[in-house]
Amino acid sequence: MEIVIENLEKYYGKQCALDRVSLTIHRGMFGLLGANGSGKTTLMRILATLLPKNGGTVTIDGIPIEHTAEIRSLVGYLPQEFHMYPYYTVWQAMDYIAYLSGIRTGREERIRNMLEWVNLEEVRKKKVRQLSGGMKRRLGIAMALIHDPNVLIVDEPTAGLDPEERIRFRNLLQSFAGRRTVLLSTHIAGDVEVSCDHLAVLNRGKLLFGGDMKEFIQGAQGTIWELRGSRQETEAELAKYPEAVLISQTVKDAKDVLRVYSEERPGRMAECVMPRAEDAYMRISRRNIKSL
Ligand code: ADP
Repeated sequence: MEIVIENLEKYYGKQCALDRVSLTIHRGMFGLLGANGSGKTTLMRILATLLPKNGGTVTIDGIPIEHTAEIRSLVGYLPQEFHMYPYYTVWQAMDYIAYLSGIRTGREERIRNMLEWVNLEEVRKKKVRQLSGGMKRRLGIAMALIHDPNVLIVDEPTAGLDPEERIRFRNLLQSFAGRRTVLLSTHIAGDVEVSCDHLAVLNRGKLLFGGDMKEFIQGAQGTIWELRGSRQETEAELAKYPEAVLISQTVKDAKDVLRVYSEERPGRMAECVMPRAEDAYMRISRRNIKSL
């Protein structure tokens, strides 16, 4: 199972939303990271055959993306917002989607299995509009996977979920990805750090990174620093290094802790620390802005 993207281009009128993106996505969990407007949804909608591309090639399992019917049987897509049939019961909504997906025989069993898997069997008689945000998201997954695809594409999966539901949702994706491919988009680096082995970073339609998560994080090694002290001290020290970029500011043991990205050591107060995905993301985005 492989998604191979080569020189993919997409324009909305004159505006370039994807600029010759080349990327290979293997089995497992793959994160698509980028700020709002960086082209994540555009890329995902092209992969789900909902949007035509303007240039380049895309194949899924060796099948060109233009073969819409075949690709749709391989791909399930869960957009951030979608029509949910609010007045149907959970079961009716699933049955309708299953019917639309062409499932005629064994439909009941398939729906029961899917509802059990996403832990919604007990609310099968409830109206969709009565479900919580997290339940709706899980129902969305069951709907997107009703036709048993090999690839699941999810847009901003944890947006609007409470911490418990986030973990539950992530575990569901992970149990699916054990056998197949999950592509999930987010603008929060921490979201992909825990769950994805591989990731791509998009910025204004350009690919800044595509590959291994460990490699991505290691790339920032030696450039992430912490400064501890009183607010006055740390801020005065940092002011001497205009190239340094503040990542976060917290308070620990009554001291200010500034986490900073800088290619060189920003003063004697600075202690080099292990980078996280969020740091690597800040670094790669900054370097890109500078080179524009
Ligand atoms: P993301 O999902 O990362 O937020 P999008 O793929 O939605 O990014 O958008 C990428 C760029 O394309 C943005 O600049 C956005 O304004 C533009 N864009 C997206 N959809 C349309 C559209 N239907 N018409 C015109 N421009 C669009």
